[in-house]
Amino acid sequence: MKKIRIIIAGGGPVGVVAALACAQRGYAVTLLEAESTIDDNPRAATTHPSTLEMIARVGLIDQFIQEGLVARFFQFWDKPARAQIVEFDHDTLRDETPYPFVVQTEQHKLARMGIERLRTFADAKVRFATRVTGVTQDANGATVTAEGPDGKESFRGDYVIGADGGRSTVRKALDIEFEGFTWPERFLVLTTLDDFQELLTGCCYRNYLADPDEWTNLFKVAGDDGKGRWRAVFPTRVEESDEEALGDESTYSRLQRVFPLGRRYNVVHRNLYKVHQRVAATFRQGRVFLAGDSAHVNNSVGGLGLNGGIHDAMELVDTLHQVITGQAGEELFDRYTRRRRTLNIEFVQEQTIINKKRLEERDPKARQARFDELRAIAEDRGKHTEFLLRTSLIASVRKAQSME
Ligand SMILES: Cc1cc2nc3c(=O)[nH]c(=O)nc-3n(C[C@H](O)[C@H](O)[C@H](O)COP(=O)(O)OP(=O)(O)OC[C@H]3O[C@@H](n4cnc5c(N)ncnc54)[C@H](O)[C@@H]3O)c2cc1C
Repeated sequence: MKKIRIIIAGGGPVGVVAALACAQRGYAVTLLEAESTIDDNPRAATTHPSTLEMIARVGLIDQFIQEGLVARFFQFWDKPARAQIVEFDHDTLRDETPYPFVVQTEQHKLARMGIERLRTFADAKVRFATRVTGVTQDANGATVTAEGPDGKESFRGDYVIGADGGRSTVRKALDIEFEGFTWPERFLVLTTLDDFQELLTGCCYRNYLADPDEWTNLFKVAGDDGKGRWRAVFPTRVEESDEEALGDESTYSRLQRVFPLGRRYNVVHRNLYKVHQRVAATFRQGRVFLAGDSAHVNNSVGGLGLNGGIHDAMELVDTLHQVITGQAGEELFDRYTRRRRTLNIEFVQEQTIINKKRLEERDPKARQARFDELRAIAEDRGKHTEFLLRTSLIASVRKAQSME
């Protein structure tokens, strides 16, 4: 009997996890990645407990933890006062998950380890430098057209997963609306080898610094050499040009405002991102599905975007498997949109907008009220746990199970 083939557009972390989960279910997969190598620009690292459970399901958890940093705590700070407001402890989730901590592992490491594992499956094809240009479908399958090193090609499969990022060609080919808005400011990400744990006394691996003038997210990653480095994320001024934001004056003075070092920070990477809150109108059209950033994008405060994308991948592969094996009819495909779109809006879009507003609040009274609210949550064991169940997306996974 002919094996079911699933074509995945995009070899980012979501496409790779989806491809691996499909291969492990026994399906033939073709993974098409536009670039010739894995993108190793600094983006996601924060991986929440619910997502760690999924990474365990695809068999990568030991390597994932080994190549990252375990972050049990996260903190909120009042940046102008350089004072810690509150600390949250994931260990309060120890009865809720086998992974009561966050792991900070850079997303390119997940893509790399996933592709290495994928290559152990005889029916998994991984093609770099192959840019998907379009997709068509009929009653029997779907055809993906692409531009590869040898020119135009086409790939025939039973189903297609568009995991080709925020500017998704697959989403555009299906003419699916990307509803939402774009923030006027951009986010600047600076990577430094200077150790904030030695500078900002008491800080941990994940710190959110509220500031009415210029908030900062400060977190530590292992780096490819395992020696550790810090990423600091800042908003730009709305009128600031890209050149200005990425220039020496902007980068060094921004880091000095986090902590005045008395010399220049050792900055090893600078990057600037446009920031959107957008969700696709549907995550499915016939045999073609969207997952990850092609289906939804959000600001990075709280580290939820990729986590949500991996949740999509796992839900989608489970759904495909149920339909393909005849445990359910094709109408189950619509549950994928119902669950993942609704939960993205409720847990990722809403939460990241709240997170950003909390950091940038300008009104002194409202600012104080937000700090007081966080303190009250942290001090009450039940509320502390409830808060973390939400921020770690465990509550989202539980809600999915109750959604038909
Ligand atoms: C500064 C920053 C920090 C972040 N921090 C976090 C965090 O801590 N935690 C978190 O959960 N999220 C975070 N995010 C979000 C996270 O980076 C994204 O959600 C994540 O990259 C989505 O993965 P993806 O595989 O869907 O898309 P992508 O990573 O964008 O991958 C898409 C892939 O598809 C390829 N592609 C594009 N077009 C085509 C085509 N036509 N044909 C074939 N291939 C194509 C691309 O080359 C790319 O490799 C952050 C984002 C930013 C910008």
